[in-house]
Amino acid sequence: MNRKEPKGDYIVRATAYQGAVRAFACRTTVLCRKAVRLHRLSPISAAALGRLMSGALMLAHDLKESHQSITAIVRGDGPMQGMTVVAQGDATVRGLVIQPVVETRYARPGKLDVGSAIGRGTLTIIRDLGLKEPYMGTVQLVSGEIAEDLTYYLATSEQIPSAVSLGVRMGPEGISHAGGLIVQLMPVADESVAEHLERRVVGFPDVSSLMEDGFNPHQLLDLLLGDPDIRYLSTAPCAYACPCSTDRMRQNLVALGRTELTELALDPNGIDLQCHFCSKSYHFNQDQVQGLLDQAD
Ligand SMILES: [Zn+2]
Repeated sequence: MNRKEPKGDYIVRATAYQGAVRAFACRTTVLCRKAVRLHRLSPISAAALGRLMSGALMLAHDLKESHQSITAIVRGDGPMQGMTVVAQGDATVRGLVIQPVVETRYARPGKLDVGSAIGRGTLTIIRDLGLKEPYMGTVQLVSGEIAEDLTYYLATSEQIPSAVSLGVRMGPEGISHAGGLIVQLMPVADESVAEHLERRVVGFPDVSSLMEDGFNPHQLLDLLLGDPDIRYLSTAPCAYACPCSTDRMRQNLVALGRTELTELALDPNGIDLQCHFCSKSYHFNQDQVQGLLDQAD
């Protein structure tokens, strides 16, 4: 079998048990480190955002077109308050945390207490396929630990029985390993496959500790599925990337509407905007802002 196993961050998609099972796995260590640098995240925020980015990337790996996207929004009453992640069909992801710095607490030794930092709240998934209306579903958070919340979302909102495991491991120098996997039962799966898979999922080791032991995404799926006929369908390098541009920022300004733009156009210094996802700065001088007034209504 010809399998390509890239060295850096990547996602892989597979089927097993004659199509009864669909699975994804990813390694996201480098892109999670980039998010930490961009947003100066404290360890718990880094773990939370890393888990959500890994989960969203795997969900987006099922999209047909590169511009289609999955947006995952978590809102909670804990100190982190929430986060937003956008993953696209081209295997890029971007994200932000409302409160990037929260106090480091452990649920048990070595296990950051992400659930308490997020608190009680909701998870919303927006599936934008470029059609008129995006598909949107919201569920209550189960634990705020992200993997359980995504599992619950997939089961209730999309009616797909799934097992989701996400891990971000911290070392003395920051993130040492990050990644995840999703295994889903397709409607054609019979009872015996379902039971077999459930036995394998229960007690399966933590993804990040397996990665620490050297497992790559392909090997994670090999180990979990245990099917000699597993078929790897696609492999893609994944990265943190933001598609923001002067043109997009201009459109955002126009969308503010005439009243607000008129007010902004009074400032002789023009306006400065910063992208929340990648921190890139954009400047529009007074003439340019006035020029946008003609496009707004
Ligand atoms: Zn940006």
